[in-house]
Amino acid sequence: MIRIRVSVGTAKVLGLKKLKMDVPLHTAYFLIGERCVYDCAYCSRASSASSSPELLSRVLWPSYDFRDVIERLQNVDCFKRLCVQVVNTPNYMDDLSCVLKSLCSFAIPVSVSVRPSSMEEVRKIFDLGIERMGIGFDVASPRLFSVYRGGDYRRSLELILKVASEYPGRVTTHLIVGLGESDEEILRLVSIFSSAFVTVALFAFTPVRGTKLEHLPPPPLERYRRIQMLSYAIEKGILTFEDLEFDDRGRLREIPEMNFCEDKAFLTRGCPDCTRPYYNEKPQCVPYNIFSEGGVN
Ligand code: SF4
Repeated sequence: MIRIRVSVGTAKVLGLKKLKMDVPLHTAYFLIGERCVYDCAYCSRASSASSSPELLSRVLWPSYDFRDVIERLQNVDCFKRLCVQVVNTPNYMDDLSCVLKSLCSFAIPVSVSVRPSSMEEVRKIFDLGIERMGIGFDVASPRLFSVYRGGDYRRSLELILKVASEYPGRVTTHLIVGLGESDEEILRLVSIFSSAFVTVALFAFTPVRGTKLEHLPPPPLERYRRIQMLSYAIEKGILTFEDLEFDDRGRLREIPEMNFCEDKAFLTRGCPDCTRPYYNEKPQCVPYNIFSEGGVN
């Protein structure tokens, strides 16, 4: 009998958990795997992390019988997307195949967030019927990439771009703001990904107890807003990376004049309908990513 972890917000919508949650949830989030073979310094699932097994970032993921989850999913009609977060265990493909067999039978697009090591792995996962793949690049700084995430910056970038050229418009990547990267490093990457039609989902670094970076503070909201605005402007073609000026430490000299609705830039971005509420933020604080229009602070 397979068990699956379900984000606590999703569990509430499915009637598996009682919870006060005041924001709409259009994507159902699932998680498979427990301890990862990789050792990202910021991740609660990393091989050396001693974080609670219930956590991914600051969200709780209780575990349920997969059949029960599927039955409940059949009785709700609010979800526009299903997202499976994969913890890369040695045999993750077996569990992922089994889970996707059921999830891809719903008439709802499915995203899989995973760290693939090869195109062969990528093709196998797309062949299981998913609509989009989310591949976390996470660390924008070439100086810090191998230190915090492990692996090779250039090769990881090339893999995402290759996936994007083989599956155009079906790739999302995750970038974390606040891991010591400069404005220049993260905005250059946004520009590279946008040119390849890779959707960038921005995350704010969130320190989680039991990880190597548990003592690093989250980024100031002001800087996060700046990166949100400029990455949005680059993605929408309002400006190009070459229009921006940086000092010798890669800090943006000034924000160019732009004419667009800032509120849209602050909304959660990523796969369509992904809002991931409270993934990075405490309910009582101003959210880094705004979950719905009209909720901008
Ligand atoms: S952007 Fe959202 S839906 Fe897409 S892979 Fe990432 S978490 Fe999942």
